[in-house]
Amino acid sequence: MITVSRRTALLGALAASFAAARPVLAQATGPFTLPPLPYAPEANEPHIDAQTMTIHHDRHHATYVANLNAAAKDYPRIAALAPDALVAGMMDMPEAIRGTIRNSGGGHMNHTMFWGIMGGKGGTPTGALAAAIDRDLGGFETFKASFNRAGAGVFGSGWVFVTVTKEGKLALAPRANQDNPIMDGARVLMGNDVWEHAYYLKYQNRRPDYLAAWWNVLDWSKISARYDQALAGTLGI
Ligand code: MN
Repeated sequence: MITVSRRTALLGALAASFAAARPVLAQATGPFTLPPLPYAPEANEPHIDAQTMTIHHDRHHATYVANLNAAAKDYPRIAALAPDALVAGMMDMPEAIRGTIRNSGGGHMNHTMFWGIMGGKGGTPTGALAAAIDRDLGGFETFKASFNRAGAGVFGSGWVFVTVTKEGKLALAPRANQDNPIMDGARVLMGNDVWEHAYYLKYQNRRPDYLAAWWNVLDWSKISARYDQALAGTLGI
């Protein structure tokens, strides 16, 4: 006879082996996965606080991924698509899930890009990217000012992006909600999240202060790598 304690031990061992085989629970629930933050939550202190980073990644971004996985249960064809292909092709998808693809697919793309370009020490871009900023955006200081102005001007929730063409041409592209320029056939080089959840714990209503501080945590080597990928035609999310 198996005693209660013996049974509990067996179940515990089973759960432990299951957990060892699938260390990330989100992977067990669907085809879309939450990428881990590529640095510690406090890496962007003091400009972006650790609590904001943790809540933003572990709850907000995780919810977009969970929503996509819930949609994939009813519409398995979306499971086979990379997020950028899914969002770019949302008008070809059943009308019933277009809203989910737009909001949660866009949110998944936007935040994956966002984590990937931070964790740095700011400074200034170099090389081909710096030359493109000089050519298309009036130089780095003018670019920063117009980017911050565009971010401050987003009414309600949204993003301010820089788009990049295959020829390397740059343009500012503010968007509402979780819209991504790929919905209009454009690719994102970089962007800043101006939803209140991105800054309210530290900056409250002072969005311009958050916008100004954000430049201090950019990793220009990562953004330059994205620029090179755009020229090579391999830039994904
Ligand atoms: Mn966000």
